[in-house]
Amino acid sequence: MNPIEQILNHFPILILDGAMATELENYGCNLNDRLWSAKVLMENPELIKKVHSDYFQAGADCAITASYQATIRGYKERGLTEEEAVGLIQRSVQLAAEARDEFWGELEDQSNRPKPLVAASVGPYGAFLSDGSEYRGDYSVSEAELVAFHKDRIEVLIDAGADILACETIPCLAEAKAIVKVLKEFPDVYAWFSFSAKDEHHISDGEKISNCAQWLDEQDQVAAIGINCSAPHIIESLITEVRSQTAKPIIVYPNSGEEYDPTSKTWGEGSSANQFASSTQRWHEAGAQIIGGCCRTTPEDIAGIAAWARK
Ligand SMILES: [Zn+2]
Repeated sequence: MNPIEQILNHFPILILDGAMATELENYGCNLNDRLWSAKVLMENPELIKKVHSDYFQAGADCAITASYQATIRGYKERGLTEEEAVGLIQRSVQLAAEARDEFWGELEDQSNRPKPLVAASVGPYGAFLSDGSEYRGDYSVSEAELVAFHKDRIEVLIDAGADILACETIPCLAEAKAIVKVLKEFPDVYAWFSFSAKDEHHISDGEKISNCAQWLDEQDQVAAIGINCSAPHIIESLITEVRSQTAKPIIVYPNSGEEYDPTSKTWGEGSSANQFASSTQRWHEAGAQIIGGCCRTTPEDIAGIAAWARK
């Protein structure tokens, strides 16, 4: 059963959560580390659960787990055993599921929103490298290596009970193809594919997003296609490009617009939460049905989406 289709059959929009890292920093975590929020999974898992709860309260219909940078290889390089690494990756799913179940159990009116999903973050190979290559896609590894890298973690995330896989911040089509190859070994599992983009028409490595959408459109286990971790001002055009190639749901969760400044064509600070909420409404009108925020977005931004989406 495709969990996204199930929700969109009954609701016009599926609201995602916002940034995990930004909220952890707001709670005082220092994320200046190669493992990023995966470090907090080791040191302060309850805080991750708290952030998931905050986003459900704000209106999110889906939590994206803190496994973006949590990889077996990454933890092993930090001195953990394989067993410990697997345990932490499983924990990322359990924390989101516990937060979801508690939130849903206590919610008085369940009629105007779906029971939230737990989407297991499958961060790109570049997030493991931690060298910024998830925004360039210039990996010097073979497809077989990408398949092997993704397979270990995906297996753990599925076993831990995730509802869907969030294959996100993908910089190149080759990596999406490698992940689809892994998916075929788990035929009951659905995933969304979300790319990092460099401009209005191209993903990070320069490939046209329309080509990516066209290829993914043919894949049965792909539940949605879109863009995350990119500048808000390029999103509308990218939606149009994706829409030209697929009838699958379109997913967008860009970064906060708060850095956009008109002179340098980036947003200035100030009206960011309102600005973000009104942008999300435009993206919905342009054809996106799954909308949330990536880096530097907050529960306030997600509440801004719920405010217009659940009238
Ligand atoms: Zn991001």
